[in-house]
Amino acid sequence: MTPLSHPFIQALTEALGADAVRTGDTIPPERHTDWSGTQPLAPLAWLRPASTAQVSAALRLCHAHRVPVVPQGGLTGLAGGAVPTPGSVALSLERMSAIETLDPVARVATVQAGATLQAVQEAAQAAGCLFGVDLGARGSCQIGGNLATNAGGNGVVQFGMMREQTLGLEVVLADGTVLDMLRPMVKNNTGYDLKQFFIGAEGTLGIITRAQLRLQPAQPARATALAAVPDVTSALELLGRLQARAPGGVAAFELMWQDFLRHALDWTGLPRPFDEDHPLLALTDLSGSDQPALAHALEEVLGQAMEDGLVLDAVLAQSQAQATGLWRLREITAEFPSRLSPINFDISLPQAAIGAFADRCMAALSARFPGHRSLRFGHLGDGNLHLSTDARSLGDLSFAEAEHAVEAIVYALVAEAGGSVSAEHGIGLHKKPHLSASRGPAELAAMRAIKRALDPLNLLNPGKVFDLD
Ligand code: FAD
Repeated sequence: MTPLSHPFIQALTEALGADAVRTGDTIPPERHTDWSGTQPLAPLAWLRPASTAQVSAALRLCHAHRVPVVPQGGLTGLAGGAVPTPGSVALSLERMSAIETLDPVARVATVQAGATLQAVQEAAQAAGCLFGVDLGARGSCQIGGNLATNAGGNGVVQFGMMREQTLGLEVVLADGTVLDMLRPMVKNNTGYDLKQFFIGAEGTLGIITRAQLRLQPAQPARATALAAVPDVTSALELLGRLQARAPGGVAAFELMWQDFLRHALDWTGLPRPFDEDHPLLALTDLSGSDQPALAHALEEVLGQAMEDGLVLDAVLAQSQAQATGLWRLREITAEFPSRLSPINFDISLPQAAIGAFADRCMAALSARFPGHRSLRFGHLGDGNLHLSTDARSLGDLSFAEAEHAVEAIVYALVAEAGGSVSAEHGIGLHKKPHLSASRGPAELAAMRAIKRALDPLNLLNPGKVFDLD
């Protein structure tokens, strides 16, 4: 434990104020790790600056004292990126949570990075707009964390990832320099688009303090359907038809394999959506302003797809309650940590490769671990497959041994298929050993060169994403 009288802690306290610097037992234990369940580690201090100037002052001091800094958002990350590293201070933006401005005509919001995703969504909604990113951790995750992980979620098929929602950023570099890139313009070809370096960098290049976010027009109406499809190829054809019939209106297209549905029905107690078991289910939402027109479009496309053999059966939600019930099936993922001992995968592949890849994974896992319990689901519109294997279904192995064995099988197949080991959750600590399955030596060398240029002392979130040496 670092005594409060330590010159570094004293200097931080003078710069930020006593209530913004905590050490020892006054640091809340939940700040020692994140949702990923990584081994907890107490930071040297926990900092809660209240302004960009204070973030800059804190980083200047850390730089002068050669102390590493781990940025922390809502701690919902699934890759261990926000877990303190030995001898580091953790820096939280929770006191910088203001929605500073929101222009519903230009459809731009300027927000501080500690605002939760839900606060931004609600502010946008109150102004008759929509923020285009949504994910299950919305109530806790922060815009800074969403940007640092380039978060995705259910709406990517319609609006893209966080990168696509970002017009401007303010970032503080490792030495305390403030980079003001808050220029809410779509067109700006004046050299490198520097803000893009920080989106998805998982806090290794700078601390994001403010952001200018793009908003969409409100889409108050939704129509939801669940369709049973014979295979992924048919699901892709169905998605294409929906996008052609409702351009820009497909708000979600989620795929659930039979193994996933079995667990969803068991855990929720909801009635089976269809009398027969089908290999694959596609849950889709159309969004817009005219509910009857959306429902009509959905019905028409599904009807034709059934005639053509692309859809085996389908239900169209007749009420909000029914739509919520269908989505409840997909949202059992929030129960994974309590129901399973999950080894989670977040894989990206060319859309057309997903079906064969998912089957190859299951076959390879079954060959090594007969009777394993694995659940497959994904955001088909973005080529994102999630796979969760229950470590407890793999025999007597410890969790670490089970994880190692399953990752070796799955990531070898990802490399073979030319896919990505992380579609939307990031690399953090957990996927660091597997980064080279998705990035070549020249790409990794370029990333290290950028890191060295912006953070030559390797103080920002060191050891996350990749090691420097
Ligand atoms: P944290 O976990 O606190 O941090 C994540 C990373 O960002 C760390 O490397 C941290 O150092 C860095 N960081 C945080 N704030 C800053 C900042 N201001 N400046 C620089 N770096 C910073 N993710 C998806 O993409 N799609 C999903 O559908 C999805 N669903 C989820 C559902 C559940 C139930 C849960 C628990 C998580 C889900 N996630 C999902 C993962 C997670 O919510 C996202 O990665 C989210 O973007 C993390 O935000 P956070 O504020 O919690 O960041």
